[in-house]
Amino acid sequence: MIISMKMHATRQEIDEVRDQVAHFGYKVHSIEGEERVVIGVVGVGDVTACLESVESMPQVEKVVRISAPYKFVSKQFKPGRTRIRINGVEIGGDEFIVMAGPCSVESEKQIMEAAEGVAKAGAKMLRGGAFKPRTSPYDFQGMEEDGLKLLQKAKAATGLGIVTEVMSDRDVDLIAQYADVMQVGARNMQNFMLLKALGKCGKPVLLKRGLSGTIKELLMSAEYIVAHGNPNVILCERGIRTFETETRNTCDIAAIPALNELTHLPVMLDPSHATGKRSLVPAVSRAGVAIGADGIIVEVHPHPEKAISDGAQSLDLATFEKMMRELKPYIALWESSRKLDAVAATA
Ligand code: PEP
Ligand code: MN
Repeated sequence: MIISMKMHATRQEIDEVRDQVAHFGYKVHSIEGEERVVIGVVGVGDVTACLESVESMPQVEKVVRISAPYKFVSKQFKPGRTRIRINGVEIGGDEFIVMAGPCSVESEKQIMEAAEGVAKAGAKMLRGGAFKPRTSPYDFQGMEEDGLKLLQKAKAATGLGIVTEVMSDRDVDLIAQYADVMQVGARNMQNFMLLKALGKCGKPVLLKRGLSGTIKELLMSAEYIVAHGNPNVILCERGIRTFETETRNTCDIAAIPALNELTHLPVMLDPSHATGKRSLVPAVSRAGVAIGADGIIVEVHPHPEKAISDGAQSLDLATFEKMMRELKPYIALWESSRKLDAVAATA
């Protein structure tokens, strides 16, 4: 059950509601927005008595019963779309957002070339890992803080917001000083300590689906971040592990409309990790636009043959530019369908 307080309810009025909920023996998670406080109530058993009691309190605007195990992120809680403003761009809004850049930050020359190239081709944010989750302990682990500093330089040169991965709750404060979006990698989708820390980080989070994470588990992980205080979560389908070996992962394209039915959060597609092969990235990106993703996050490297990680799935700058040009008519259709959705929502 979710309780929306009236606008500008006082601290005392909020505390009265919390006390009333506690009286019925339920747990409270509250999100304090600038104008409105929203209180999530979680507990076992029938909440009817508690719901009726709270509903009659004058400072309460609305109480909604939510049957899904994820509450704040569910469509039942908020029927529309969540729009997240980051560094002058909006995710989940009227624009299809392309984030692009190398798998890893490798050098100043590499990241500056990548940033300038992707910005010129129309990307709205720069991706690049400074802390890298690698299958082998002997592989390059990332440039860490030096890499974050290079991302900051690339942002200063191009104006692009930065998306970069955080692997541990211990690194959240450091990375939040440089990142516009904190990326949670597939391998950390259920790192609950990290998710809880990101609830308090004050920056939007891009939460990638785990290699064997179900859609419901992905939503429960998003719920962790929101329940701990951060409503700005972007979900990302990046392929799941199946018996198929021709592609690096199996792109679960249907996850995108499925998520759009279940949650108000923005949903992006990563066609690079979903396929593992650069030749497949443009077609899968088109599929992402057509199926209604809010954007894509694509690996692009100025010299993919020299990339320290994920070269095989990285586009070079010319191919990225060509892909962006070829996506244009699809994006135009995407934009008209968003407009129709907006009209339908107000009808
Ligand atoms: C990445 O974005 O480079 C990455 C490691 O992705 P994933 O966590 O989806 O494997
Ligand atoms: Mn990668």
